[in-house]
Amino acid sequence: MEAESSQPRLWHKENEDEVLRQLNTTKEGLSDKEALLRLTKDGYNELQGKKRKSVGKMILEQLKDKTNIILMIAASISLVLAIVEQMTNGTVDYIESIVIFTIVILNSTIAIVQERKAENALDALKDLSAPHAKVLREGELSIVLTRELVRGDIVYLEAGDIVPADLRLFDTSELAIQEAALTGESVPVIKDAEIEIEENLSIGDRLNMAYMSTIVTGGNGYGIVVETAMRSEVGKIAQSLNTQENVDTPLKIKLAKLGHNLSIVAIFVCSIVIGLDLIRWDWANNPMTFVSFMPTLMTAVALAIGVIPEGLPTIATVIMALGVTRMAKKNALVKKLPAVETLGSATVVCSDKTGTLTQNKMTVVEVAVNGDFKQGKTRIVENKPINDKIYQPLLKAAMLCNNAEFDPDDENNIIGDPTEGALLYFGKVNKIDLDEIDEKYERVFEQPFDSDRKMMSVVVKDKEKLIGYTKGAIEEVLDEVTHFLDEDGIRKITLEDKKQILTLSTQMAKRALRVLGFATKEIKEVPEEGDDVEEGLTFIGLTGMIDPPRTEVLSAIRSCRDAGVRTVMITGDHKLTAVAIAQSLEIFDENRGDLAVGQDELEKMTDEELKLIIKKVTVFSRVSPQEKLRIVKVMNEVGEITAMTGDGVNDAPALKAAHIGIAMGSGTEVAKDAADLILLDDDFKTIEVAIKEGRRIYKNIIKVVQFLLAGNVAEILMIILAQILGWPTPLIAIHILVINLITDSIPALALGVDPAGRNIMKEKPLKTNSLFSDGLVVRVITHGVFTLIASFAAYAYGILVVDSQPVAMTMSFMILSISQLLHSVNQRSNVASAFKPHDFNKWLYWATFGSLVIVLILSLVPGVQGLFNLVYLTPLQYLLVAVFSFVPFIFVEIEKLIHRIYLKKHKIDYSNM
Ligand code: ATP
Repeated sequence: MEAESSQPRLWHKENEDEVLRQLNTTKEGLSDKEALLRLTKDGYNELQGKKRKSVGKMILEQLKDKTNIILMIAASISLVLAIVEQMTNGTVDYIESIVIFTIVILNSTIAIVQERKAENALDALKDLSAPHAKVLREGELSIVLTRELVRGDIVYLEAGDIVPADLRLFDTSELAIQEAALTGESVPVIKDAEIEIEENLSIGDRLNMAYMSTIVTGGNGYGIVVETAMRSEVGKIAQSLNTQENVDTPLKIKLAKLGHNLSIVAIFVCSIVIGLDLIRWDWANNPMTFVSFMPTLMTAVALAIGVIPEGLPTIATVIMALGVTRMAKKNALVKKLPAVETLGSATVVCSDKTGTLTQNKMTVVEVAVNGDFKQGKTRIVENKPINDKIYQPLLKAAMLCNNAEFDPDDENNIIGDPTEGALLYFGKVNKIDLDEIDEKYERVFEQPFDSDRKMMSVVVKDKEKLIGYTKGAIEEVLDEVTHFLDEDGIRKITLEDKKQILTLSTQMAKRALRVLGFATKEIKEVPEEGDDVEEGLTFIGLTGMIDPPRTEVLSAIRSCRDAGVRTVMITGDHKLTAVAIAQSLEIFDENRGDLAVGQDELEKMTDEELKLIIKKVTVFSRVSPQEKLRIVKVMNEVGEITAMTGDGVNDAPALKAAHIGIAMGSGTEVAKDAADLILLDDDFKTIEVAIKEGRRIYKNIIKVVQFLLAGNVAEILMIILAQILGWPTPLIAIHILVINLITDSIPALALGVDPAGRNIMKEKPLKTNSLFSDGLVVRVITHGVFTLIASFAAYAYGILVVDSQPVAMTMSFMILSISQLLHSVNQRSNVASAFKPHDFNKWLYWATFGSLVIVLILSLVPGVQGLFNLVYLTPLQYLLVAVFSFVPFIFVEIEKLIHRIYLKKHKIDYSNM
């Protein structure tokens, strides 16, 4: 390879051979070994996005974290206090400050490790959805990761691809590329590899080049990779842009806001505590000194720590990362994290038919030619041979107007479009020799299939004659037909003929068959690129093929309906075929008032008219990708939360406009790039799984919020109540820290992986607009008060009856922490009893048990106990601790019972709650 020059190369000015020579490659492509060598030298073909946070930066962020700042202030105050004590009376007691500093370090380390782990999990998912390119290596076409492309590689491009690097094109055929990413121009440019360019043209005019990140909208062609990564044209722009997306989800933003608001509450509560102390201060007898004021300050700091749920942001990140990893294992690959939340609130799923709801395994089951139409009867074939000569022209057209191929490695497999594959099988059972056909009839022209025209045509050389063959959606073909192939030869088609053909095809469509019409035409001279050969055709006949629904889909659709999620079929197929399949899948039911809308009706409707009926429409047929976008926009306007599937290049705008764009794993790179979620198995069932998981993740995070905040409420009220009564503080900073960071956080993490409630898909879609919907605030306060009652009662007992502050403090610490552990079990449902059989969450039991052991170690192990200012209790006091620890759990269960009685009385079904 030539040495790199600092001047940018103008590859469009070089001819093809020169480019191959300079890059030391051939049209057969590089060898794998050479490609690897170049990869090692040049690096990955990746645009540099936001760099990963370094550990140093993460530590710095931790140090700037509000919680840690408060903790460090606490530790510093404690340290100063200890120093002053040592200087005044010689006692050495640095334990508290050491413990707090240790906790800061521990807390930060856990947060960094968790964040890294979550990041790694998400990166692993990103790798799963990394774009691929089709590359010739040693003459073989293979699919490689786009980032592994090197200069000199030969890339094959076709519709739906994202150009993987800067390419000098060759052998293009109607290659159309949309270059908006670079030029802002949204109309695709038709490329021409043959063109020779002398001047220094702008990017949009370089017709023999294709540039990284632009989109192939039609045709195909080859290109030599000339620049990769940041040296590409888009790379030059990316240098000044930050391409990495912001992955903060709305929920995480809401949690951050909650943290911020709680810090304000913390400052407020602390001021009250300090204020109360100042008012009560016996100024005359007790002049305020630094040392005498310190305990007040420590109480205020403890309060501040109590108010902020330290573990929450980390736990939420971990829950999400675990959740999306779980989803990926079930074939639902979340590409954009916010989709997780939106999935839980989806109200409608707009799904393609072919391949998603159906198996995409088409079989020709009926055919009809000339006399059949008059008789109004099709010929049932179901993969059985038909020997009548009369069907031969139809068979021939079906073989010639076809781009599918049998897989050389597996004759039962088809490479290409399944509709065309079905025709090939049909030819096979009729003993047609495809090789012979290919040899005999040379294809000289193709007008490729496109979802808008719904037709495709070819022109072949039949001896000296040129013959055109067209196939496509029956109405489209009939529109272009002027003649009819009868038993006696070609004659003009009559209105009666057309009527008979349409009647028969309508009956077939009602039987859920995809009906394709076939026509032919003699052509005078070889057409040129862009010519239209689909007019003045002679009708040959039609085929009807069945594409059975996927087996699992019906139950998934029912489950979605129970969950308040409507399924809408959007298809390019005929209305009657679509309705027949929709009926068998319970998507369409006339008795329910469902409507089916075809393209012609849709075109006539204004958006306002569509808005009036759209909530009733469950089938949109003969829809073009542009109409898909319109449908999704109108759906959004009437307040639906829309999930939309798509796989083609034209689907990208609709996927972006939907709240959740869903691409098929087998779809084009463009669709996958635009989507929020990728279905690795193309199966509708996976959408249901994703909705269920989305709900589960969101609900679990809310459970954690409720659980942690209730604990914090109890802690704050304890301190404030003692302060009001003029009693010594029941909880010191390190107690609160232990509770918040250990005995609360561990069960909280376990709650985060709580299995989905059995009835999660019987509930209505989630309302995710506010964290505090559905009575969360009330529950946080009442549950906090229940815990307060138990632990403060014990504290009062210690102060008033035992008359020992250390005993009182030990009792209230133990009750507070143990009752929180039990309280985590309450949290699994806000209505159902904790004793009702739930799906077993072994993590929760292990977490509760593990945390209990920690509490017991802190309170019982000699040496450790003293570090935390705790003392031994009498057996009676331990018994009281055990009994009181159950009080909040029992209270919450009683509250749920009352709630259930209320719901029953008002005849509200609570079985799903
Ligand atoms: P869905 O939108 O439900 O996934 P689809 O993707 O199969 O259905 P299109 O591919 O847009 O829909 O096809 C629309 C219509 O075009 C079909 O109903 C059929 O009549 C016709 N058609 C499909 N494939 C071909 C093909 N290879 N050649 C000619 N016509 C075709």
